[in-house]
Amino acid sequence: MSRRLGCGCLVGCAGPLIAFIILCGAVGILAGSCAVAAEPALPPPAAISGIPPAYLVLYEQAGQRFGLQWQVLAGVGQVETQHGRLDADCAPNFAGARGPMQFLPSTFARAATLAGIANPDICNPADAIPAAAALLAADGAPTNWHAALLHYNPNPAYPDEVMTWANSYVMAVQVVWPLDGTITQGFGPTSVTLEPPLVYEGKSYPHFHTGIDIAAPLGTPVRAIAGGQVVFAGRDTSGAVVVEIEHLPNVVSLYGHLQDPPAVKVGDAVVTGEVLGDVGVTGVTTGPHLHFAIYEAGVPVDPLTVLPPKG
Ligand SMILES: [Zn+2]
Repeated sequence: MSRRLGCGCLVGCAGPLIAFIILCGAVGILAGSCAVAAEPALPPPAAISGIPPAYLVLYEQAGQRFGLQWQVLAGVGQVETQHGRLDADCAPNFAGARGPMQFLPSTFARAATLAGIANPDICNPADAIPAAAALLAADGAPTNWHAALLHYNPNPAYPDEVMTWANSYVMAVQVVWPLDGTITQGFGPTSVTLEPPLVYEGKSYPHFHTGIDIAAPLGTPVRAIAGGQVVFAGRDTSGAVVVEIEHLPNVVSLYGHLQDPPAVKVGDAVVTGEVLGDVGVTGVTTGPHLHFAIYEAGVPVDPLTVLPPKG
């Protein structure tokens, strides 16, 4: 299956793509621009392993509940107390702020009410993290992270500091496989006559498979390999249900032969691993499988050069 025909790979196109997706995969959503992540002043990517697992789960849950990127919540937790490490005894600081998210008691009471927490404990991350998320959302996040963060902490350097950490967490996120399954057809020239011709890296091929086919049972969830925005969701000219995610300008991943309807629509922002639809048999196919492809500026790239090695 092929929706797009390229006109030859750009020199070294796969290499920069890998770097782009890993470095910038979700930053577009997070900070509005990949340039934020590319600034040389940024520290090297922080390992997510620096976040205690119990905190990571709480950041992710709170992010999901309040529609916020968990990486920013984790940035707040890092800057405030290094995820609780700097305030292990929950002692008030000079201003009276306490706990992993460094709340003043009066602010915490309001935030906990916003989060609907009964009997909140300022020292407990399971209460403090969702309370912080509720407060940030009430103060304008994610539409205006800057204002929400300044309201959280009036230090003018605070929003940038938090976003720097948030971006470093994004950068540490790996690209994931769209599903588990057996690769039944690889990328490249093929004898399968269903596949269209393509000029690739200056050579003309009568039949060229622009992605990889991954066989999996009907109904298997298909996931976004990295964060981005849905730029196509519907039937292509062959009748296949297709979803396309743009991770960066002109860097697109494509998921084909899905069941109708897909789980997302054009314009949706998706995060890494988000379900886009289910394996189906729409379009021209001999059995249930996912046709998965990656395009850079319309030119197909071997997905195996982008996806992590199978463990
Ligand atoms: Zn295919």
